[in-house]
Amino acid sequence: MAKVLTIGEILVEIIATERGNGFRAPVPLIGPFPSGAPAIFIDQVGKLGQACAMISRVGDDDFGHVNLERLKADGVDISGIEVDPQGTTGSAFVRYREDGSRAFVFNIRHSACGTIALREATQTLLDECTHIHVMGSSLYAPSVVDSILAAITAIKAKGGTVSFDPNLRAEILDSPGMREALNTVLAKTDVFLPSGEELFLFADAKTEDEAVAKLLATGIKAIVLKRGAAGATYFDADNRMSHPGFAVDEVDPTGAGDSFGATFVTFWLNGAAPLDALRFANASGARAVMMSGPMEGASTRAELEAFIAEKEATA
Ligand code: ATP
Ligand code: MG
Repeated sequence: MAKVLTIGEILVEIIATERGNGFRAPVPLIGPFPSGAPAIFIDQVGKLGQACAMISRVGDDDFGHVNLERLKADGVDISGIEVDPQGTTGSAFVRYREDGSRAFVFNIRHSACGTIALREATQTLLDECTHIHVMGSSLYAPSVVDSILAAITAIKAKGGTVSFDPNLRAEILDSPGMREALNTVLAKTDVFLPSGEELFLFADAKTEDEAVAKLLATGIKAIVLKRGAAGATYFDADNRMSHPGFAVDEVDPTGAGDSFGATFVTFWLNGAAPLDALRFANASGARAVMMSGPMEGASTRAELEAFIAEKEATA
C-alpha cells in the first residue's frame, strides 16, 4: 500500500478582499486560511483517501493549529509536524491586482518552518512512505533542503518514487543554493509536474517537444504539463495525450496546481491510465479555483466524480 510524504512550508494565507496593488495602505482582509504549497498538496491527497503524511514545523499558535486541525481532519498523518512552543507559524498576505497577478508579503524563512529537521518521529515516516512529492517552493532554507534530499535518498533506496512540481516564484529563484537544489531533485524525479514556462527552466530547448524529449532522456518517467484553464498534457516515452480543462468561474487560482498535482500523483500511484489521471487532476484543479482560499477547494473522489459527470453531461 502506497503512502505519500511531503516536506516543506506550512503557513496561513490572509487575502485582501479588494483588488489593487499591494499593502501600502490598509485594506480589508479575510483569513487565516490553511496554506503552503506542500500542505495544500498533501491535504488533497488525504481527501482522496490515500495514505499520506507531512513533515514540517508550526508554532504553538492559532495559525499552527488551524493547519494541524485541517490536515488531520482531511486524513493526513501529522505525526511528523513538530509544534515549536517558541516558534511562530508562517504566513502570507496576498492581494490580487486588477490584471490577476498577485502581490505577496511572506513570513516563511523566519517562521517555525524555516528550520525542518528529520528526527526520530520522522524516521518512522521515512520507513512507511513509498513516495515523496517535492515543491520547488519548499527549497527556501538549507535545513529544509537537507531534509528533503535525505528523504528522497531514503525513499528511493527502497524502490520508492519521487514527484516534483517546480512551483517557482521569482522571489525565491535567487535564494542561495536554490538552483543546485532544484537540479538535484530533478535528477531523482519520476513524475515531473511543471506549469507553463517552467518546462523550460530545466531544459535548454526552443520548443515544447524538444524540452520534453530532453527531460525524458534524463530518466524522468512521466511529465505532466499544466496549462491553467486549458487543462494539461501528459508525456512519457511512448505516449502523449492532452485533456482539456473544465470550464468554471475562476474565483481564486491559488492552489490549483497543487491540487492538480496531488490528484494526478494519487491516481498514478494507484495504477490509473494516464488519461483518467489527467481527467481527475483537471477536475481537482478546476474545483480548487472555484473557491476562495488555497485549501478550501480540496475534493473527495466522490466530489470529483460528480463534478466530471455533470460537466460531461452538459458538454
Ligand atoms: P498555482 O498557481 O496553484 O501554482 P499552477 O501554475 O501550478 O498553479 P495551473 O496550470 O495554473 O498550475 O493550474 C493547474 C490545473 O488546474 C490546470 O492544469 C487545470 O486543470 C486547473 N485549472 C487552473 N485554472 C483553471 C481555470 N481557470 N479553469 C479550469 N481549470 C483550471
Ligand atoms: Mg504551481
